[in-house]
Amino acid sequence: MKIYINGKFFDKDDAKVSVFDHGVLYGDGIFEGIRAYNGRVFRLDDHLQRLAESANAILLKLPLPIKEIEKAILETVRLNNLKDAYLRLVVTRGVGDLGLDMRKCKAGATLFIIADRIELYPEEFYEKGLTVITSTIRQKGLDQVTPGVKSLNYLANILARAEATAAGAQEAILLNASGHVSECSGDNLFYVKNGRIFTPPTSAGILVGVTRQVVMELCEQKLGNRVLERNFPRYELYGADEVFLTGTGAEVIAAVKIDGRVIGKGVCGPTTRILIKHFRDYANSSGTPVYEAVKAK
Ligand SMILES: *Cc1c(COP(=O)(O)O)cnc(C)c1O
Repeated sequence: MKIYINGKFFDKDDAKVSVFDHGVLYGDGIFEGIRAYNGRVFRLDDHLQRLAESANAILLKLPLPIKEIEKAILETVRLNNLKDAYLRLVVTRGVGDLGLDMRKCKAGATLFIIADRIELYPEEFYEKGLTVITSTIRQKGLDQVTPGVKSLNYLANILARAEATAAGAQEAILLNASGHVSECSGDNLFYVKNGRIFTPPTSAGILVGVTRQVVMELCEQKLGNRVLERNFPRYELYGADEVFLTGTGAEVIAAVKIDGRVIGKGVCGPTTRILIKHFRDYANSSGTPVYEAVKAK
């Protein structure tokens, strides 16, 4: 495995960042989880745009122009000779001193890219669906450093996931301060009731997922069913016909049990099933080519 760090490639065991990197010391940085399907990087422009917006929000100057970051991503996939890949792109504040002052990170941001083979859930979960709980941990508020930034401050999500694991579940729902459903520890959430599809709005305090956006487009274009963004309490999930989660790693996956309540028929429902199919068809037939780009030169 070859890992990109600041313009150079390293073997896995040699791929290291400094203990003085503010990403390590303070979680001061941002990331993207990106997938490549069939030799093409899926929705790369969306991920790069969110990266740029996250960087801007935390006053982080990206070490390269977006176009160069795109090239580095494609090069990393190519060097690792992958057709299907999970990519982790991380930008930290860079090496500083032990203080909080970001001006001390003089060398500028650290950028690294890992290209790996990852499938988050075994295929049987796409048939059977996931078990989900509501976490005791609340989503960070809109008045705090915002849930909209895909930052390295992932503690709340990690602790929520640990609660799920302890309860024998795969995912955890985070409610926001007003008690509405926001999202899961690493996925956005939708539910289906009487033929209508709902998802929490950005004002619920969510990370606006690329997969969420894709699924909203697929619902409209392929199902002729426009997703309604509205706030709702978890009580509405218990009575839903279907609940499903979306994320780069998970793609589209049903949640069939929530807080011990069986959702709908307790299996992956028809709307979720058709969306999984549309999503996979689309992911496998679109995206930024990794290998043709070389030929074109
Ligand atoms: C990344 C992430 C998601 C899903 O976003 P995608 O772009 O679809 O992968 C949802 N919630 C959180 C907290 C995330 O970090």
